[in-house]
Amino acid sequence: MMKLVSFTHHSNTPALQHSNSPSHLMETILLLAHVETGGLPAKSTREALHAAATLHKSLAGSKLVVGLIGESVQAAADSIAACPATKYFGVAGAEFARSRYSTDAAAAEALCKAAQATLVVTPATSRWNRVMPGVAQRLGGRVDCHVTGVGEAGGKPAVTRWYYRQRLEAVLTRTQRPWFILVDPGSQKACECGAGAAAVELLAVNPAPAGPRTTVIGIREPKADAQTIRPDAPLLFVTGAGWTKKQADGLTHVPEAEKLILDFLKLSRASLGSSKSLVDLGGEGQAVLPFLSHLNQIGQTGATPRHAKGLSTCCHGEEPHTVGWRFIGERRAISLDPNCGWARGKADVLYVADAFAVLAKVNELLAANPLTH
Ligand SMILES: Cc1cc2nc3c(=O)[nH]c(=O)nc-3n(C[C@H](O)[C@H](O)[C@H](O)COP(=O)(O)OP(=O)(O)OC[C@H]3O[C@@H](n4cnc5c(N)ncnc54)[C@H](O)[C@@H]3O)c2cc1C
Repeated sequence: MMKLVSFTHHSNTPALQHSNSPSHLMETILLLAHVETGGLPAKSTREALHAAATLHKSLAGSKLVVGLIGESVQAAADSIAACPATKYFGVAGAEFARSRYSTDAAAAEALCKAAQATLVVTPATSRWNRVMPGVAQRLGGRVDCHVTGVGEAGGKPAVTRWYYRQRLEAVLTRTQRPWFILVDPGSQKACECGAGAAAVELLAVNPAPAGPRTTVIGIREPKADAQTIRPDAPLLFVTGAGWTKKQADGLTHVPEAEKLILDFLKLSRASLGSSKSLVDLGGEGQAVLPFLSHLNQIGQTGATPRHAKGLSTCCHGEEPHTVGWRFIGERRAISLDPNCGWARGKADVLYVADAFAVLAKVNELLAANPLTH
């Protein structure tokens, strides 16, 4: 059963409290993660570990256990060995290297059972988002995705998540166990616990379920610099429909816009977001900014990414767009219109200026003084 502890129309988020109240069950918290190519944990795993350790600290008498899946898990376990976990389990082998529902679910199920986990904290990677609801079903548990905070409420474990396109924030508790908690990447600090020697108990999991199984024959992905969505980038750079509109000379300048934007992305390594208007133009097959797709769209019907800073260009800053900026720390915009939405409280700084001219100058400065990150 899920209990809604509080539902806050977003203003200032009520922080979850941390207490050592003894009035809860003894929880076993399992940090469940897959290791990356190269054998080490991803940043999102360290963030989930921070969440798991926070829960562990909040809940007196709880145990923290780590479960890892991958071709080999020892290096990953060693890299976080100084964390407060008392036990490490692993499922290792070539068949567990790649994302595949059947093997991931079998391994996750075995790890949850071996750890006797009551709370399972995992990074909400695309790999785990696909698998955990099924594992929760197999184990008779419950799952909550898009969790952005953990702690305790009334002596019980509680999680925070957002509803209605990030406008409302709720704190939830559940009585059902195991409770699977998928922590949104970027919502937590990455734990900084150091390395050591971890004693990993490896579990034997039969990777061959009945019936045909997906065979991974390779991965096709865009070249690194064609990959414009970079969740780990410090800066979100947003393009709006103004880039394709007639400018002061009465003409459009789409090829120039494309070059300025791509040069800026290359020099700044920013993540590329867009307004809906611009993405929709591209979707209609018009010759506008071919590197944009609906995946870049920020807003009510798009994404709500997390970046320390955001810079919007040639975008009007209407509410359905800016609602997607909820988790952007510092917001700046460049628009010709001094009355645009950004000017009305949506941005920290609005430059009323021609984005073509500003970006040309910024690119020149960046080329002369390359960023080091
Ligand atoms: C149900 C619903 C859901 C929606 N969901 C989303 C969503 O998820 N995301 C989203 O983005 N929108 C969404 N919208 C649409 C949203 O309301 C706006 O229509 C859209 O964001 C406008 O895009 P824009 O600001 O890029 O374009 P425009 O409104 O056309 O604005 C272009 C801006 O560029 C400026 N400009 C032009 N040339 C220059 C220049 N040289 N330098 C600087 N500035 C310049 C202009 O002054 C203007 O302010 C939604 C709408 C509805 C009804």
